Amino acid sequence: MIRVRFAPSPTGYLHVGGARTALFNWLYARRHGGVFVLRIEDTDAERSSEAMVEGILDGLRWLGLDWDEGPHTGGTYGPYFQSQRLERYRATAERLVADGHAYYCYCTPDDIRVKRDAAEASSGVGTWRYDRTCCALTGDDIAARERDGRPRAIRVRAPERTIAFDDAVHGSIAFDGANLEDFVILRSDGHPTYHLSVVCDDVDMKMTHVVRGDDHISNTPKQIVLYQALGAPVPTFAHVPLILGSDKKRLSKRHGATSVIEYARQGYMPEAMVNFLALLGWSPGEGDREVFTREQLIAAFDLSGISGGNAVFNVEKLDWFNQQHLWSLPPAELGWRVKPVLERAGLWSDVYAGDKHAWFDAVLQLLKTRAKKIDDFAELGRYFFTMEPAYDPAAVARHLRTDGMRDHLVAIDEAFDALPTFDVDTTEQAVRTVAEVRGVKAATLIHAVRVALTGRTASPGLFEVAVLLGRQVTKARLAQALTLIASPVGG
Ligand code: GLU
Repeated sequence: MIRVRFAPSPTGYLHVGGARTALFNWLYARRHGGVFVLRIEDTDAERSSEAMVEGILDGLRWLGLDWDEGPHTGGTYGPYFQSQRLERYRATAERLVADGHAYYCYCTPDDIRVKRDAAEASSGVGTWRYDRTCCALTGDDIAARERDGRPRAIRVRAPERTIAFDDAVHGSIAFDGANLEDFVILRSDGHPTYHLSVVCDDVDMKMTHVVRGDDHISNTPKQIVLYQALGAPVPTFAHVPLILGSDKKRLSKRHGATSVIEYARQGYMPEAMVNFLALLGWSPGEGDREVFTREQLIAAFDLSGISGGNAVFNVEKLDWFNQQHLWSLPPAELGWRVKPVLERAGLWSDVYAGDKHAWFDAVLQLLKTRAKKIDDFAELGRYFFTMEPAYDPAAVARHLRTDGMRDHLVAIDEAFDALPTFDVDTTEQAVRTVAEVRGVKAATLIHAVRVALTGRTASPGLFEVAVLLGRQVTKARLAQALTLIASPVGG
């Protein structure tokens, strides 16, 4: 049974890099019918907060990355907050001391600084490692220090041999044990270091795979030392390359929003974000295919498809994915997603979900070719959803207040009145005929009618717009345009 985890430290929001790590773990678990665990690494009480935990959970929920064990859900191996497992880490550290894999260290930070400074001053290089002073203490030495009430940390004995592992992304990685020092696993204040808490939990929670960011590669040898000291199987590691901005520097706010929830607020679709994040550093090895539903990603995902090179975050690409997913939404689904956007803009009417729902769906289908995000529908469709389209003064000046346009529009209005049916072909034919008869370019009239009907210079196909507005509204808008032409400029 595959068991994987996402283990965020709640010291900030859910960053796109973290979200991608979570996604890869989730996809791997879902692909193999495994278990996806969410564990909150909140041992740093000062920098962690409940609000940030909730923010991270909200981000995961928005992406649809449901966890099988973790906060709110519970599970066999809880609690899933490290702050609630401190006793367990202390007991584990003591066990390692009892087993001879670790020892008490009474050196103070000052002792260590003095030694380090002296060694580095004489050698000129910064590679001093803890000199194992306390590893050599006898039982009597220890008893004496304990009597004095000296604070003590716990250090693990690091082996001198090479530590190697097979990374599922990078292949074989080896570290020279000579560079490892006896590292602290429990501080003198009783707090575990990251290495202890993470390994202790990964063992307790029976993790089979550890999929996490590349920035943890250098931690892995120390953690392997701990797995081995604990007599626990070492999981398979997969270190996922970093996400870079377009300038190839580590992704940061300079490159735009880095918080997943910010993209939710901006109106991106979660399925587009999931698709986009999945392809940041992973590829299905199926030619150029890029657009995937969540289910298709699950079916195609494997750790072997993760690339060893860094991935570049490109918001234009996210826009593209969003558009692809938006275009492929079934009409009814598009409707329920647009509803809250129109509500917020004060443009919603319940008839769109009732008597006029076919009309509403048709409007959205027409508008969607111009939409990048769900939120765009309010602005793009304003003239459909209100009787008062906002007329762009520049468009009015340029296309309506021109020589002879008043009479041209009157002629178009009459031609529309005379049409037996008001459809895309008949309306277009009517405008073209007026243009011919009156000796103007059809394009000039089309621009003018577009401004009259929509208030702006860009819209989907004008005649589709006119037909969806309907004969009466079209007539009213033409009349409104005549009023605008007659009104004083700037009025
Ligand atoms: N809490 C660590 C972090 O947020 C993750 C540790 C891990 O995945 O091993 O970077």
